[in-house]
Amino acid sequence: MEKNSVKDWAQKVIIPEENLRFMQSGNDFVDEEAFWKAINENKESTKTEIRDIIQKSLSIKPLTINETAKLLNVTDPDLWEEINDAAIAIKQKVYDNRIVFFAPLYCSNLCVNNCAYCGFRSENIHEKRRILTLDEVRRETEYVLDNGHKRIIMVYGEHPRSDVHYMAETIQEVYSVERNAPKSGRVVGIRRVNVNAAPMGIDDLKILKASGIGTYQVFQETYHRETYANVHPAGTLKSDYHWRLYSLHRAQEAGIDDVAVGALFGLYDWRFEVLGLVAHAADMERVFGVGPHTVSVPRITPASGSLLSNNSKYLVSDEDFKKLVAVIRLALPYPGLIITAREKPAIKREVIKLGCTQTDASTKIGIGAYQECNPLQELNSEQFTIGDSRSLDEIIREVGEMGMISSFCTAGYRCGRTGDKIMGMLKHCVEGKFCKLNAVLTYREYLDDYASPETKAIGERLIEKEIGEIRNESFFMKNNGRIFNEFMKNYEFIKSGTRDLFV
Ligand code: SAM
Ligand code: SF4
Repeated sequence: MEKNSVKDWAQKVIIPEENLRFMQSGNDFVDEEAFWKAINENKESTKTEIRDIIQKSLSIKPLTINETAKLLNVTDPDLWEEINDAAIAIKQKVYDNRIVFFAPLYCSNLCVNNCAYCGFRSENIHEKRRILTLDEVRRETEYVLDNGHKRIIMVYGEHPRSDVHYMAETIQEVYSVERNAPKSGRVVGIRRVNVNAAPMGIDDLKILKASGIGTYQVFQETYHRETYANVHPAGTLKSDYHWRLYSLHRAQEAGIDDVAVGALFGLYDWRFEVLGLVAHAADMERVFGVGPHTVSVPRITPASGSLLSNNSKYLVSDEDFKKLVAVIRLALPYPGLIITAREKPAIKREVIKLGCTQTDASTKIGIGAYQECNPLQELNSEQFTIGDSRSLDEIIREVGEMGMISSFCTAGYRCGRTGDKIMGMLKHCVEGKFCKLNAVLTYREYLDDYASPETKAIGERLIEKEIGEIRNESFFMKNNGRIFNEFMKNYEFIKSGTRDLFV
């Protein structure tokens, strides 16, 4: 593509007036002075104050900036233990003992931006550039399906060749793929496609919505303006802080009601970023009455051609990382919390216990990397280094040993339980109940369609226990056990080979 046509395209991407209606008297929701005041002036909380905040979280109420800062400043190890216990309890209350799996599908590493931390940045001459054809997208999807996934997150660099029309075509391609599951021969397909892509204007977001996406995810990277400016060079599309800050507000305006926030931990002080995420969720609540569907907590990992990814002075230690996950779980009790294959297995295990609700598995992030079947990472065609390349079966076995059900549930989205409906149900701890049923149904499918004998053996024991719990839960037994009976009917149908049933 000619340099000039890329420039012409770029000039039309940002429409600043689309942000204005969300700002209050020209101000955004990131009050840096207030964030630092909250961090610096809330260092002497008493145990009683901290315990009151923990109690508030346990009643599934989001925390204020000051309350969150008080938790971030806790130094007493016993109080941290109480915070961690509360994080575990909140996850159990809202999401029960399940973990949802997905696979990323990287479609293109062409990018007009030059983010200092990313292997795809335009000035990285080592990066081998590639954009998948629809045929290649199909083959990648087949591989992901053959592994047992039902949910994909599509990832794109920002470039006219991977504009919203390319996204819509590739998403439709993914939805059209069908495969026979290896163990049972049953016909299966991807049931939910989420998207991680650059901010767009409302008209483009409507096209994205019409393509059938589930969640639209944009990470702010850093909420700190000066750092934002330093890592996103002036003159690039990504250097517009507000275009990104309000990308998910615009998405909601365009009708995409499941939106997902995140911060790239390691660019600036992690405590500040946690407050940024809390303020972001609160502003969405203020404007739309509903906060983010999920929160992601990516930590920077080494990327090709990026010094910053190795030596940022704000890199977050494992200890602090666990703290920030626990505090986010308390401050934002009902969004899902996503941990990715950027993390190594040991830390992943710990934060899954602490409240993460979704993770990826059998992950490959090179462009076309699934079909190429190369067991090694090829950093020069990838965005960053991953820490966990274990197969889906291995991770399902591991979380099963931890007593957790693996879920591929996509029912909420397909029954219209999205946006304020699903978030309302999560706030009242009702969605978790439906998810428990659908988690068991999709776990059953996985065990029969893909699982190794070891994973299956663990799964059978877990499913038996889950069905026992469901039977003993009065919520499912109301009206002569209507919900329980419907669930069991679907369960038996799935056992005998029917697929894609949910309640
Ligand atoms: N180009 C789109 C954008 O910037 O919004 C898509 C996002 S990018 C392909 C996905 C995310 O990866 C980024 O938002 C960033 O947070 C994360 N990322 C970039 N470089 C990273 C690194 N070195 N380590 C970990 N995550 C990184
Ligand atoms: Fe491009 Fe996104 Fe990487 Fe920035 S983070 S260089 S916008 S792919």
